[in-house]
Amino acid sequence: MKVIVTGGAGFIGSTLCRHLVAERGWNVVNVDCLTYAANLRSLDAVGNCPGYRFVQADICDRAAMDAIVSEAAPDAVLHLAAESHVDRSIDGPARFIETNITGTYTLLEAVRAYWQRLPEARRRAFRFLHVSTDEVFGSLEPGAFFRETTPYAPNSPYSASKAASDHLVRAWRETYGLPTLMTNCSNNYGPYQFPEKLIPHMLINALAGEPLPVYGDGLHERDWLFVEDHVKGLALALERGQVGETYIIGGRAPRTNIDAVEKLCETLDRLRPAARPRRELITFVRDRPGHDRRYAIDPTKIERGLGWRAEETFESGIERTVRWYLDNESWWRPLREGVYGGERLGLEAQTQT
Ligand code: NAD
Repeated sequence: MKVIVTGGAGFIGSTLCRHLVAERGWNVVNVDCLTYAANLRSLDAVGNCPGYRFVQADICDRAAMDAIVSEAAPDAVLHLAAESHVDRSIDGPARFIETNITGTYTLLEAVRAYWQRLPEARRRAFRFLHVSTDEVFGSLEPGAFFRETTPYAPNSPYSASKAASDHLVRAWRETYGLPTLMTNCSNNYGPYQFPEKLIPHMLINALAGEPLPVYGDGLHERDWLFVEDHVKGLALALERGQVGETYIIGGRAPRTNIDAVEKLCETLDRLRPAARPRRELITFVRDRPGHDRRYAIDPTKIERGLGWRAEETFESGIERTVRWYLDNESWWRPLREGVYGGERLGLEAQTQT
């Protein structure tokens, strides 16, 4: 199997590249323009493997995409490149529109041109897997679950841009016959996650004895998915999924944000004891504008249809994550001291009104 992974220097993309190269033996061309969220050190484990190659390029650049796709001649494209942080989309939506919508369109067009030139058998076997988010479905009432049939209702610039990209992918299949499929997953966590996201942000603050800023009342609910479980689901969706289908992926681990942060504190206290329990560092701060209250996933379709199941519970996944950050300070410390210092993002909408 020879594939292109876009966004392979990010959190999920790098985990996917490591999985596909090291555990599956696939040939992977990683295409990433290296935004602030990228880190090539996350790929050290596969950097020298003969089946792995990195190309720095922007998915919005049609000529670059044409050249890379023609040269790589892949059997499939796994599309993960995106601007991914909701808070940053509130402060500056333009880049989200550019990368997530125009970039996906540009990539689809480059891939379509390549796919149309393939011989019949390879054209039939080709796949374009679009990796999206459950945030496109908006906020859930208590007791409800996202399913593949849930109507779209995105509420943030980020989720609206991802919803638009989902629609483009669908349209390229319906209109041009490009063999696409899609996954929408819940909140990922695990090793190598950029420190702006909830779990590593709290973990690094807790280690430093700094306040743990929980948005609003902390009762917003997310359905947590360990990143290594997620990438196994992506590989499976590519291998066994049906063209035109959507698979939503979740770890059956719903937690309120406050519960998730308390579990993190408890785990850290156990693995690296401090003078006082870290939960005492929790503070409640102004809520995110437009903050979705609840996400929860019913992953029955991918479980029954493709035989996927999350292997980690939230407790075991958090323990693995905490251990990794404790053992890999040299990975996250330069990020925290350089590109992202831990400041609050995403309050722009409120300061302007
Ligand atoms: P990330 O922000 O860690 O990584 C994104 C990567 O894309 C970075 O390496 C960045 O350099 C690259 N990129 C951004 N713009 C690009 C462009 N124009 N051209 C080429 N590369 C570009 O994101 P992530 O958390 O790894 O998420 C990966 C995908 O999964 C995204 O599409 C995201 O929407 C989706 N997703 C993420 C989560 C989550 O919890 N992290 C949940 C659901 C869906």
